[in-house]
Amino acid sequence: MSKQAKKVPSVAYFCMEFGLDPSFPIYSGGLGILAGDYLKAAYDDGYPIVGVGILWRKGYTSQYVDDSGYPYDLSPEYNFDFLKDTGVKVEVSIKNNPVTLKVWLAEHFNNAPLYLLDADLPENKEPWLTHSLYRGNHDDRIAQEIILGIGGIRALRALGLDIDLYHFNEGHAVLAGIELIREKMMAGLQFEQALQATRREIVFTTHTPVPAGNESHHHGALSYVGAYNGLTYEQMNRIGGDPFNMTVAGLRLSTLTNAVSQLHGETAQQMWQHVTDCSPIIAITNGVHQGTWQDPKMQEALLSGTSLFAPHQENKQRLLAEIQFKTGHVLDPETLLIGFARRAATYKRGDLIFRDRAELLPLLQNRQVQLVFSGKAHPQDHEGKQLVANLVALAKEFPGQVIFLENYDMTLGKLLTRGCDVWLNNPRRPMEASGTSGMKAAMNGVLNFSTLDGWWVEGCQHGVNGWQFGDAYIGDGQDEHDLNALYRTLKEQIIPTYYQDRPKWESMMKASIQSGTTDFSARRMVREYYNRMYQVVAAPQAKIS
Ligand SMILES: *Cc1c(COP(=O)(O)O)cnc(C)c1O
Repeated sequence: MSKQAKKVPSVAYFCMEFGLDPSFPIYSGGLGILAGDYLKAAYDDGYPIVGVGILWRKGYTSQYVDDSGYPYDLSPEYNFDFLKDTGVKVEVSIKNNPVTLKVWLAEHFNNAPLYLLDADLPENKEPWLTHSLYRGNHDDRIAQEIILGIGGIRALRALGLDIDLYHFNEGHAVLAGIELIREKMMAGLQFEQALQATRREIVFTTHTPVPAGNESHHHGALSYVGAYNGLTYEQMNRIGGDPFNMTVAGLRLSTLTNAVSQLHGETAQQMWQHVTDCSPIIAITNGVHQGTWQDPKMQEALLSGTSLFAPHQENKQRLLAEIQFKTGHVLDPETLLIGFARRAATYKRGDLIFRDRAELLPLLQNRQVQLVFSGKAHPQDHEGKQLVANLVALAKEFPGQVIFLENYDMTLGKLLTRGCDVWLNNPRRPMEASGTSGMKAAMNGVLNFSTLDGWWVEGCQHGVNGWQFGDAYIGDGQDEHDLNALYRTLKEQIIPTYYQDRPKWESMMKASIQSGTTDFSARRMVREYYNRMYQVVAAPQAKIS
C-alpha cells in the first residue's frame, strides 16, 4: 500500500449546533451535545477532524417560567471573547444579496478545531441571521442552511484546509453537498458526474425517526432564498425530491449513512426504504465524552474498590443544594431521587409517571420517592410549553417532593446526571433515536430506568446495570401498558433494592459505570466512525476514477 492509502482521512464535521461548554451556548439539545462531545473525543485521540458550524450570538433560548408556570424566552447577548479571529471572510448569496461571513475559530474547550460562521457584520442587510439558533421563519432557516453548508465549504477553501471527507451531522448541512457539486461543475464536470464524485466525499448521519422532525422545503422558497446555488430545479429535485426533503438529500448525497443506535438503524432503514438511490444506512450508536460528563471521583472509586456511595452522595448533595438555591425546597438526601430532563416533546411523555395518581400518591406520602424534572420547549412550540407548564403545576401541587428546574442546559444536565439516584426515560417506542443523557447518568452510577428505546435497547442488562420497563411493547394502549410496567418495576424492584439491599444497589452502580464507560463513550463512537464510515468511504477502491 502506498503512503497515500494509509493516511487517516481528514474530516470536516458539519452541524447546526455544538454543545461544548455551558459558557458557549450555541446548542439547543442532544444534537449539539453529540457534536461537542464528538469534537472533544476527536481532540483527545488526535483525529484530523474539524468542525463547521454557526456562531449563534444569542444562543438558543434561556427559558424561565412565569407565575402561571408557562415558559417565556430570553435571548441574552453572550460574550465570546475567547474565539480566535481567523482573518478569513467568505461570501454567500442570500435572496440575491451578497452576505459576508466572518470565520471564527473555537478550540478553547479541549476540542478539535471548530470553525464558526458569523453574519453579524455591518455590511450585511440581515446581520441577525446568525443570532438565534432554530428561530426565525422558513426563509430564515433556508438562509441559515446556506450559511452553514455553502458558507462552510467556502470557509474550508479559504482557510486552505485539506479535507478528504465531509460529514453532515443531520440534514441541516446538505447544501454543502450542493456547493461541492457546483465546484465540480465549474471545473468542467457534468451534473451527474459531479454528483457521483461528490457522493464519494460525503457521509451522513440521520437523526430523528419522528417524520415531522425531518425538514423539507418548497422549491420556490429554496430557489428564492438562493439554495439552488446555480443548480436547476431538475437537479435539485433529483437530490431532494419535491418538496425538497433534507434527509432524503443527505441520503442521496452520501456514500454511507448512519443512524445513531442499533434500533434506530432498523427504524431508519424502514422509514427511508422508499427513497431511490439512497446510500446504505448502518448503525453507529452515540456516545458521550467521558472527560466532560463523568465525575472523576466515580471512576477513581470504581478503580480503587472504595465505596461508590460516598462520592455519589456528594454529587447528590450538590444537586440538592442547587435545587434549594433555585426553588427554596430542601430535599432529603436519604430519599430515592428520580430525575427526568428532556426537551419537552410529546413522544417523550414527560408526565407519564403522574398519569396514575393512585400509584404515585402513596409513594410521595410515604416519602419513598422524590422527583426532579427539567426541560425546555422550543420557543414557538405551544404544545411543548404546555407540557412544561403542566410539570410546573405538578411541582406546585407536591411542594418539596416534585421539583421543576427552569432553563435546562449543560450545567443542569451535568448536575442532574451525576446527582440523581435513578434516571428515568420513557419515550414512546420507537421514537427516540438514541438519547445520551442516560449514558451520562450510567457513567456516574446513576441507574437508568427506561423503556426499551434508543440506546437502552443495547445498554440495558435488566436488574444488573439498571432496569427496563414495558418489555419493548409497541401497539394499542402503549401508554397504559408502559405506565403499569413503570409502577410495577418501581415498587417491586427499584424501591426495595434502594432501601433494603444497598450492596446490590452498589454492585448495580458499578456495572452501570463499567458498561457506560466502555460501550457508550464518545471515544468508542469516534473510532467506530473512522473504522466503519470514513476509512471505508475514503478507501482508494471506493473512489471513482
Ligand atoms: C445530554 C443532554 C441532552 C441530550 O439528552 P437526551 O437524553 O438525548 O435527551 C440534551 N440537553 C442537554 C442540556 C444535555 O446535557
